[in-house]
Amino acid sequence: MSEQEKLPEKEKNFSEWYHELIRRTLIDQRYPFQGFLVYRPLGAEMFSRAINILEELLRERRHQKVYFPSLIPEKLLKKEEHHIMGVAHEVFWVTNAGKTNLEEPAALRPTSETAMYEMLRYWIRSWRDLPLKIFQSCSVFRYETKHTRPLIRDREILWNEAHTSHASMEEAEEQIKEGIEIYTKLYEKLAIPHIWIDVITGVFAGAESAKEAYTIFPDGRMLEMGSVNNLGQRFSRAFDIKFKTRDEKEDYVYQTCYGVSERILSAIVAVHGDNFGLVIPPEIAPIQIVLIPIFYKEDREEVLKETYKLKEKISKETEYRIVLDDNEEQTPGEKFYKWELYGVPLRIELGKKDIEKGGITIVRRDIKKKEFVENKKIIEKIKFLFEDITRNMQKRAKEYHESKIVFAKKIENIPKVINENKVAKIVWCGDIECASKIEKQVNSVFVGKAIDEKADGSCIWCGKTGKFYGYVGKTY
Ligand SMILES: [Zn+2]
Repeated sequence: MSEQEKLPEKEKNFSEWYHELIRRTLIDQRYPFQGFLVYRPLGAEMFSRAINILEELLRERRHQKVYFPSLIPEKLLKKEEHHIMGVAHEVFWVTNAGKTNLEEPAALRPTSETAMYEMLRYWIRSWRDLPLKIFQSCSVFRYETKHTRPLIRDREILWNEAHTSHASMEEAEEQIKEGIEIYTKLYEKLAIPHIWIDVITGVFAGAESAKEAYTIFPDGRMLEMGSVNNLGQRFSRAFDIKFKTRDEKEDYVYQTCYGVSERILSAIVAVHGDNFGLVIPPEIAPIQIVLIPIFYKEDREEVLKETYKLKEKISKETEYRIVLDDNEEQTPGEKFYKWELYGVPLRIELGKKDIEKGGITIVRRDIKKKEFVENKKIIEKIKFLFEDITRNMQKRAKEYHESKIVFAKKIENIPKVINENKVAKIVWCGDIECASKIEKQVNSVFVGKAIDEKADGSCIWCGKTGKFYGYVGKTY
């Protein structure tokens, strides 16, 4: 398919649309090792901007940045039994260096608990050292045996992981709330609507409990895009992370961990993109404004001169990331097409007519609306538009997300909801038995229960008083 050819239609064939769009803009899948992605400049820039936002949110709440080794000796990985049982099947092992066999094989980190916690026992001595909150942005490696899917299920995962240690279980529980709050802020900035779910099965290996954030894709599948785990004392006992309490006793620390990966990129694509290409929230758009001169032979000089002047003005008075596309090999139409595909939030067109009228033409990417703006109002208008685009993207995505969740009163209604590419919300008593029977009956996933929302009604399976809302659907 040529780059100028139309994208497949998002509404009719979501999967084809998604793969074609990310292939043209964010990634290159031709690297000869399945599940290992090459990020093109736009993909790499977008992701690092999102991670920068997250790192700032973590710092604001007193998390400190660290970096731990990517190789983890086998003995460390094996220290916590639930953990090794949970991750063993997907670990990459390094067994030799050149011609030398390593004395002990080392795992390419599948996640960093075991590397970090080995060292925390040196760092934590007393209650005065707590809470200790650290994070790192790095990649982790997992030999996914399921079908890989770019930006959704990769074998090298780019992520940010945070790890916290506390003096009591209550403090760890409070930290879980802070983790959720931090991620919620991040998703808001990216305009990704989501629901938080208390996971009932498939909890992260070594954790006591897990809360996960899900967004819903147009095909009705739920994408997990962040998890916050309470580890309790499982790891601290295994790694001997003890501290002196206020009353001079000894206890093991209580821990939490949370992580967000490149899946946020896939969510931005799926939630906001349209049949013309990406729609990127202004805050993380690597290019926020593209400036396109529109001229004929006779007014070329004049229009170009004015366009350069305008670029200088905007660059001088603001910090917006702006590009002037003065490539004369392409027509304005081809340029519009290209920058729409790349999701640039604002396009400024400047032609002879605009100059004569004393202004510019601005087109916003989210709703593709065009308007004329007078010269003296340009800067304030751009500022307003960026805010308005973010607000509009949040609102539009939220409404769509809500339309994808349908309350099912009876079990017979669930398959219909799922067939319409939606997610069923049901009342559930809290019994795991009921959850697995519902799963079998409707051949879908019981993802978990809503957090902080008490149900009213009776369990869709057993009819007893329902305490929770549960979500049933398809997942990635
Ligand atoms: Zn029940």
